[in-house]
Amino acid sequence: MELATQRTGVSPTEMRSTLARFATGVVVLTVGGEHIHGMTANAFSSVSLDPPLVLCCVARTATMHRAITAAGHFATSVLRADQEPRARHFASRARPAGRAQFDTVDWAPGPHTGAPVFTDSLAWVECALDGVHEAGDHSVFIGRVLGSGRGTGAAGLLFFDGAYGQVDTSEGRR
Ligand SMILES: Cc1cc2nc3c(=O)[nH]c(=O)nc-3n(C[C@H](O)[C@H](O)[C@H](O)COP(=O)(O)OP(=O)(O)OC[C@H]3O[C@@H](n4cnc5c(N)ncnc54)[C@H](O)[C@@H]3O)c2cc1C
Repeated sequence: MELATQRTGVSPTEMRSTLARFATGVVVLTVGGEHIHGMTANAFSSVSLDPPLVLCCVARTATMHRAITAAGHFATSVLRADQEPRARHFASRARPAGRAQFDTVDWAPGPHTGAPVFTDSLAWVECALDGVHEAGDHSVFIGRVLGSGRGTGAAGLLFFDGAYGQVDTSEGRR
């Protein structure tokens, strides 16, 4: 089926450049089992509290797209400020495939899905795939949250204008 695309006069380069001004956290999406895979992402959001739903947007050409579609689940680990190398690793096409890409990471299979959950992350969710919405060159995957947790640490990794930064709440919340 042809994708329903409409030219709006806003190029992909302009879209990327403009939306880069929106600061986000950074997560690693993971899938477990025979499709084990990890991918750095920032197109991730809470959607609904009751029922608990999240979304992530994944490029249709990405290996992760095939992995989530085949496995029917995903997990998300939220990265700490000192985990920029991990964000770079899971965004690199040079990383090994399969289980070996997790060799440098402390992880455990999530109890609900088996997807790798980083034991030193700021927070994590495990999800069953609840819906898929085609959206241009990406798909929006809706996840029904089966389990979640908060780790320790007060400094989160940020991505803003194409660069990594951090937010640190250890001085107290305002
Ligand atoms: C901070 C940050 C946030 C990011 N957020 C997101 C996000 O929210 N969603 C997202 O999808 N990506 C995101 N990325 C990019 C993603 O992490 C990388 O593209 C990663 O390598 C994808 O891993 P993969 O193994 O799933 O895909 P790979 O198989 O390694 O493919 C990587 C990319 O290469 C291109 N590609 C691969 N094969 C083809 C092909 N046959 N034809 C054309 N192009 C091809 C596609 O763009 C594909 O997404 C982000 C990267 C960074 C640094």
